[in-house]
Amino acid sequence: MPELFEIAVIGRGLIGSAAARHLAEAGHRVVLIGPDEPTDRRTSLGPFCSHPDEGRITRVAGRTAVWSQLAARSIERYADIEQRAGIDFHVPCGLVSSSPKISEWLENSTTAGGDARLVTTDWVSEHTGIVLSNGHPALYESGPAGYINPRRLVAAQTKLAQAAGAVLIKETAHTLRASGAGYVISGSWGSSTADRVLVTTGAFGSELLPRSLNLHRMPRTTVTAEISVADSLPSLICVDPPDERLDEIYWVPPVRYSDGRVALKIGGSLRNSEPVEQAALTDWFQSEGDETEVDALRNSLFGLLPGIEVRSWAQKPCVVTNTATEHPYIGWVEDGIAVAIGGCGSAAKSSDELGRLASTLFESENWSDALPSTAFQPKFAD
Ligand SMILES: Cc1cc2nc3c(=O)[nH]c(=O)nc-3n(C[C@H](O)[C@H](O)[C@H](O)COP(=O)(O)OP(=O)(O)OC[C@H]3O[C@@H](n4cnc5c(N)ncnc54)[C@H](O)[C@@H]3O)c2cc1C
Repeated sequence: MPELFEIAVIGRGLIGSAAARHLAEAGHRVVLIGPDEPTDRRTSLGPFCSHPDEGRITRVAGRTAVWSQLAARSIERYADIEQRAGIDFHVPCGLVSSSPKISEWLENSTTAGGDARLVTTDWVSEHTGIVLSNGHPALYESGPAGYINPRRLVAAQTKLAQAAGAVLIKETAHTLRASGAGYVISGSWGSSTADRVLVTTGAFGSELLPRSLNLHRMPRTTVTAEISVADSLPSLICVDPPDERLDEIYWVPPVRYSDGRVALKIGGSLRNSEPVEQAALTDWFQSEGDETEVDALRNSLFGLLPGIEVRSWAQKPCVVTNTATEHPYIGWVEDGIAVAIGGCGSAAKSSDELGRLASTLFESENWSDALPSTAFQPKFAD
């Protein structure tokens, strides 16, 4: 007779591991189901995750008031998670952002209690060496803005969830079906039964849901560069970067990657890029990414840090999962199945709060948070 859980969380990424921690620490009997990262992405059939990396930018100055609140609430808990799990993941190295919408980002930051302030491009150049030539205003946000290590955050959340009694199954769920009053989740480990289910599978796992969500899975290629200036760079977000093929770029300052290189990671979005179909996701993750995007990212790096020397380059494909509302979907898709899906390229820093909000769905029938439930309402593909 399989063990009966109150809640199964399917997907052990940033949001799922956070939700499992909040649920387990609230006293629920939780099973957290999700595989480790593929050891070799070129041969793996997936599922792949959006956090197979050493750096994700963290900041309060977000694109919407909701994103800023989500980040501020999460950042406030970083130190507690680090300390209790004994796993560090946060580096408060500051952030420079440049965008035509900087006044909105500043307002969102101020409302959420952040300390972002307007700076001139001369100030940015003098203090960081970054040359901004897009003609847009810029802001600087000091620590705790900077970056987090997403792998280590998942490890910390998982460790704390287990310490609070969550059972961990490091496997992929292949099916989810209603059975009696609950649900049976099956995979290569056999099956687990739970009263209710939270699906947090990112770009993958749509086959588990009764209806498809309205998601756009955007292919992105990131580049890492071993550079000569390694010290004291802040994180960066730059709309309309030096290479016109890109809408936007961001970077995470140099950190050590699994291949041993200490490298700056740079990513962004090509203008008018198209979503990747679900059926093509695995092929995309097995590929080397998009060479046009790689070239444009490299160009932008030389434009932003003139005179920089690059000792080596590497590149990798990944996927950003966008929603129709520009915020993650957090809500019920049928009586016993809830989702927390669609990070919109911004959920890593805020994943603890997104997981907490998802956990509250299981505490009360009514949305009880000050943030509007409509911002998170799941939208379906049909
Ligand atoms: C290149 C890139 C750069 C980014 N930069 C930033 C940034 O600087 N700052 C920021 O805040 N955010 C950033 N993001 C966004 C952030 O990484 C994502 O929003 C976040 O990872 C989403 O978390 P998630 O839990 O929804 O998905 P994921 O982290 O992808 O986790 C989903 C998990 O579900 C698992 N899964 C899938 N299917 C199944 C199944 N059938 N059974 C069991 N498990 C399954 C997967 O293996 C995975 O572990 C970036 C994203 C990308 C791709």
